[in-house]
Amino acid sequence: MPLHEHLSFRDGELFLDEVSAGQIAREFGTPVFVVSETQLRRETRRWRQALEDAWPDGPAALLPAFKANTCLALRHVLNGEGVGCDTFGEHELRAALSTGVDPARVSLNGTNKSEAAIRLAIEHGVRITLDSPREVETVLALTSSGSRPALVRLRLRPGGETLEAPSDFSDRGESIAGLAAAYRPGFALSDAERAARSIVDSGSARLVGTHVHLGRHTTSLSTWSGVVSDHVRQIARISAVCGGWRPEEIDLGGGYAERGSPVGQAIAGRGAAPEPPSPERYTQVIAQALRAGMRHHGFDSKGVALQLEPGRAVYGPAGVHLTRVVSVRRSPERPDRRWVELDTTEQFLADVVLEHARYPFVLAGRGSAAPGVPADLTGSSCGFDIIAAGVTVPEDVAPGDLVALLNTGAYVETQTTNFNAFPRPATVLVSGDLVEVIRRAETPAEVFARDRIPARLMGR
Ligand SMILES: *Cc1c(COP(=O)(O)O)cnc(C)c1O
Repeated sequence: MPLHEHLSFRDGELFLDEVSAGQIAREFGTPVFVVSETQLRRETRRWRQALEDAWPDGPAALLPAFKANTCLALRHVLNGEGVGCDTFGEHELRAALSTGVDPARVSLNGTNKSEAAIRLAIEHGVRITLDSPREVETVLALTSSGSRPALVRLRLRPGGETLEAPSDFSDRGESIAGLAAAYRPGFALSDAERAARSIVDSGSARLVGTHVHLGRHTTSLSTWSGVVSDHVRQIARISAVCGGWRPEEIDLGGGYAERGSPVGQAIAGRGAAPEPPSPERYTQVIAQALRAGMRHHGFDSKGVALQLEPGRAVYGPAGVHLTRVVSVRRSPERPDRRWVELDTTEQFLADVVLEHARYPFVLAGRGSAAPGVPADLTGSSCGFDIIAAGVTVPEDVAPGDLVALLNTGAYVETQTTNFNAFPRPATVLVSGDLVEVIRRAETPAEVFARDRIPARLMGR
């Protein structure tokens, strides 16, 4: 994989923007999460521009998913880029609003929204992407005609024939349709029709549009266009039962792959992934399918807003996880393969298990390739802790070598745990030659800060 723009080798040393990985590791310790502000801005601008170019029909808006990386400083960066935000539930919504994001560009998503979350969204004029009949009842109970109407959209379940393709998430060859069927969010069409009618009749909530989120199952563009076509078919049915209602906005969720995408790459037998589509290709294909579907069903696409919620595609490429080699050992049972033990752990890289992720990596202090030998990169927990199996490392890889795991800007830091009492690592932000802590490391004491010991157990 070609390195992302913020990464370069200079005299055999990896640089992130203008700072060497070695300097960051020395100053802030390892393991450490690093995010390049310039790369985050670059990805955001590219997606935003691609979406605007692909959808001249009406307003186009990017709502990067906050859950992918909740560092508030990064949200401030994105606010500066003028993009919106997809949030999940009350706590993400509250955190995102605290950064000053424009509430009119925020969507409250979530599979089981609390009344408090819905109340907060109504108060701030945040769009509520409704997920179930119960949430419709909650919204209607919290609003009354005369007050500012709640702005709501209906999340519909993804469908269509193209979902028969296999999912990148599955190590058992399951189809996207099979996994999507087991994933609960979104209205079934018949429920959506009923919900739409009650909202349109209510006078206290305004049904502004629809939403669908497929997720990062595939990089196949034909699957994506199939999902979009099916979504418009469902919109047409809703329109028919609601006296010709038309969506003002359509949100096609997230799930877009980025260059070097780690998802599914650790699955045995899966060949090297083809380059995923560029933001320009994704947005063109989606916009074309949307426009064609709307025409087919008699809707005018003019003036309709198109929104996308990429999370990993925006945040992922900007992140690097720096970790040092602690030891190199061999097992008598597998003399041909080394274990390269790192000072990080799968507990800080959960998707190596959950999504069979294999992060692309480089040895930060070795620009030139020494002869390679087979190895497993492993972590420091008591588990198998296999971070990358069957990879190639330089023959003389040794304790102290710095390993940079790439594409770790999304869903990595946010899923870290304290298993084995590991304090969670810091996140630092690199911007040109500046390096600043944006989420400090946890202290070992903080791992137990919530513990309370009943006095009766302390007596003797
Ligand atoms: C998780 C999620 C996203 C972001 O998905 P990515 O795979 O990171 O692009 C967007 N929208 C919704 C509703 C989500 O649940």
